[in-house]
Amino acid sequence: MSRVLIIGCGGVAQVAIQKCCQLNDVFTEICIASRTVSKCDALKEKIEKEGKSKTVITTATVDADDVNQLVALIKSYKPELVMNIALPYQDLTIMDACLEAKVNYMDTANYEPEDTDDPEWRAIYEKRCKEKGFSAYFDYSWQWAYREKFEKAGLTALLGCGFDPGVTQAYCAYALKHEFDTIDTIDILDCNGGDHGYKFATNFNPEVNLREVSAPGSYMENGKWIEIPAMSIKREYNFDAVGQKDMYLLHHEEIESLNENIPGVKRIRFFMTFGQSYLDHMNCLEDVGMLSTTPILFEGQEIVPIKFLKALLPDPASLGPRTVGKTNIGCIFTGKKDGKDKKYYIYNVCDHQECYKEVGSQAISYTTGVPAMCGALMMLKGEWIKPGVYTVEEFNPDPFIEALDQYGLPKRESHDPVLVD
Ligand code: NDP
Repeated sequence: MSRVLIIGCGGVAQVAIQKCCQLNDVFTEICIASRTVSKCDALKEKIEKEGKSKTVITTATVDADDVNQLVALIKSYKPELVMNIALPYQDLTIMDACLEAKVNYMDTANYEPEDTDDPEWRAIYEKRCKEKGFSAYFDYSWQWAYREKFEKAGLTALLGCGFDPGVTQAYCAYALKHEFDTIDTIDILDCNGGDHGYKFATNFNPEVNLREVSAPGSYMENGKWIEIPAMSIKREYNFDAVGQKDMYLLHHEEIESLNENIPGVKRIRFFMTFGQSYLDHMNCLEDVGMLSTTPILFEGQEIVPIKFLKALLPDPASLGPRTVGKTNIGCIFTGKKDGKDKKYYIYNVCDHQECYKEVGSQAISYTTGVPAMCGALMMLKGEWIKPGVYTVEEFNPDPFIEALDQYGLPKRESHDPVLVD
């Protein structure tokens, strides 16, 4: 019996909301809120028309950049949990509002500013680049700075509960708990073997996606960041249920928290697969300045190139019916158990068309939305309630992985995987 406020009604949120409604004895009441309430209303109507869920759905208009609007909504709706499935830009304002209105918080991606030219933010960012050695626009420091405030308020904030970040960290906690005494290396492999038939489209919010992919790569070795030019480390891997794919080393947010939370880990890397067409388009767009976040004047009007590009690209939520193939995302570990060397691979395979049949979206939104629902479930059941600000690997992975098994993202395991060199 819980009341949950869900902010955002895009590709990921639409999956999470439908999955919450499948568990209508836990998620008894939900409020869906974003700036465009018509999208929230349309989803409410779709779910109600299907007639399969008893969850009572309401909708609201909110600009999550505005703490006062958020506080007013939270105080009037009185949820037990706020699920932030809007954009990383809103993480801090929603956390502020949760503190003020005294409610637990969760999200699916760590904070990143919308305006990377903001001088106040830039000064802190540039200092961090020098001190830590990686130049991604996002990092955990902004949200870790809320630890004491959440602890004192007796509230829990769960950060980054999608697939990666999210499930990948649960896989690490699970490997440490059940398979290893010590973990030496972690390789996170994110493979999308899906084909949507477009020459170029992104599977989730294009702005957030292209910023991530076009940035320099980095990995953690012996506690230090090693940064490399974008897409300069390439490997091939033969993925179960997908086949042979090219993958590239990227910076990814969970590397930062895993380095803090997996004792003695020596190296953590993240690889994602990309096809040549995607890379050629992205490089070209970058070369002509279309990935820039700095506003330019065009015919008397100020436009942000990457936002303009977003308007031109297919809406990720529209890719569902056209995408065929599978995703395969997981972690390969090396380490020691009972004094012996050991390797282990835990991953999930998800089929784009199966997702579409179930909830009307492709597997990228599905593999993020299902863990968001399962994370909320852990919090509402009290399994993952602990005052403070935490990432997924800091909680007991077992009930979460069981929930994933049950609600659409079952794990697969190998005790003799091919390693990535
Ligand atoms: P979309 O762009 O599809 O949806 C974003 C939603 O947020 C929209 O409904 C939008 O509605 C709403 N929103 C944006 N700004 C505001 C605002 N100021 N106030 C209220 N609502 C707002 O994004 P996705 O669904 O693809 O991504 C959602 C999140 O999931 C992102 O944070 C993304 O980084 C994360 N993600 C995480 C992954 C993981 O594995 N951990 C993988 C993929 C994505 P409106 O504009 O009407 O307000």
